[in-house]
Amino acid sequence: MSADPSLRKVVIVGGGTAGWMAAAPLAQRFERAGAGRCEVVLIESPDIGTVGVGEATLPPIRAYNRTLGLDGADFVKRTQGSFKLGIEFKNWGRVGHRFFHGFGDFGPAIENRAPWQHWLRLSAVVDGLPSYEDWSTATVMAHQHRFTPPVEGPPSAANAYSFAYHFDAGLYAAYLREYATARGVQRLEGLIVDVELRPEDGFVQAVKLADGRRIEGDLFIDCSGFRALLIGGAMQSPFEDWSALLPCNSALAVPSERLGPSSPLTPFTTSTAHAAGWQWRIPLQHRTGNGHVYCSHFISDDEAAATLLAGLDSPALDTPRQLRFTTGRRKAGWVKNVVAIGLAGGFLEPLESTSIQLIMDGVGRLLQLWPDRQFKPHLAAEFNRLMARQYESTRDFIALHYKLTERRDSELWRYCAAMPIPDNLAHQIELFRESGRVAIFDPDSFAEPSWVSLFLGLGVRPASLDPAIDQIPPEALLQHFVRLRQAIHQTVAAVPDHGDYISRHVRAA
Ligand code: FAD
Repeated sequence: MSADPSLRKVVIVGGGTAGWMAAAPLAQRFERAGAGRCEVVLIESPDIGTVGVGEATLPPIRAYNRTLGLDGADFVKRTQGSFKLGIEFKNWGRVGHRFFHGFGDFGPAIENRAPWQHWLRLSAVVDGLPSYEDWSTATVMAHQHRFTPPVEGPPSAANAYSFAYHFDAGLYAAYLREYATARGVQRLEGLIVDVELRPEDGFVQAVKLADGRRIEGDLFIDCSGFRALLIGGAMQSPFEDWSALLPCNSALAVPSERLGPSSPLTPFTTSTAHAAGWQWRIPLQHRTGNGHVYCSHFISDDEAAATLLAGLDSPALDTPRQLRFTTGRRKAGWVKNVVAIGLAGGFLEPLESTSIQLIMDGVGRLLQLWPDRQFKPHLAAEFNRLMARQYESTRDFIALHYKLTERRDSELWRYCAAMPIPDNLAHQIELFRESGRVAIFDPDSFAEPSWVSLFLGLGVRPASLDPAIDQIPPEALLQHFVRLRQAIHQTVAAVPDHGDYISRHVRAA
């Protein structure tokens, strides 16, 4: 071994969203390093292809793009993207019921307490108080199909929200591929058929391609999707199966026509609960993405396809494509010199658009804990600790949707009502039910406003509240809320229609 222990070559296995989302920041880092820099190679197989779904995101995607120096308007244009203020949930609490999980909070704190707590107190004494959603700028803006980015400045109705994107997954991967290859990432096409381990320590030494090529590396990033070629295959990291808690195991995806120009381009994802799962609707500029996520124990594939097609609001552009999955994660995503990112590391169903977030956080942590050729074991241990915490907390947040629903009208919903839940989640639910407080187990996962959106949206009302909020007289509080609501509605009234915003700021850019 030479005196310099730095990594000389990184091999990324797979060129789906995860592979290219890992390649782009590595390209940026090593481009700056100049001569003698670490070489990055990405191997993908057109014979296998990518999963081809994954079109809704969470707000931190903006920071990821910004760090790469991508221009926001160019990104939305190139990926046929649209803006996302949150998710509308239909038929989740009960059939015919809806609520919105918006990005952002419920306005500025009042006397150091979150406004939703004051709203709860007021709603017990004021008849006909508007829904708490009327104090969420994101929700009011989304319902009016308007969009503009939050303004800079002190907290106000004009910046008490955040946003993410919807995009075409194939176009996004191509966009990042162009970025990464322009900065020196070498792209190889080929089918990996064998993995060669170092006899002395079991580290991966090389992967072998069907055409006989042998690609050596110091670090291997496994982005091979559900196949988990290196982390599951060569490293044998066990898979922790979470399907007892998240029983959906199948999806059918189909694009449909973009609604006509007179129909609004909704700035949000829609999730509609069905008897054996739920259906997503993701609006893009050139088409609408749709899919039915379901549990095959409770419905046949044919019935699931019929449900999906019956739920479209525009003609399908193709026949539905089937995907199977098992919810869960690799017990260790980093083993020896293999780090799994994306579906190779785990999968949580797409109810809250969390997979791309987990990819970004995985890549970010790998960069922070970047090893050298000695691969000090605590680097892997720390990566695995942080990823485990985030996966578990995200899993519990998704499971909350299934657990809190009042629906009992089908086998799936009856199963969810009876299913045991992890202790952390049970504590979170009971804490909110008892006293309107929110326990956060992972600061890198969903924050308090998201948990509150779910609790309130699914009909949980705490038995008691923080006693400190009793200090403000209800009349003064009501006046405050009336003014705040006015400010939100006035702000939103001045915001352009989402489709017009895209025409002016994205297509024209
Ligand atoms: P893949 O896309 O499967 O890529 C695997 C790569 O590995 C391919 O390039 C393939 O060629 C390569 N490969 C595999 N084996 C070999 C081999 N032997 N030799 C060479 N190359 C090989 N995420 C979100 O954030 N938001 C969403 O709205 C969302 N919706 C989803 C809906 C569904 C139904 C599903 C299943 C997932 C969804 N996801 C979503 C998850 C998201 O699609 C994935 O996290 C993301 O696409 C990353 O996939 P990947 O790159 O890990 O795997």
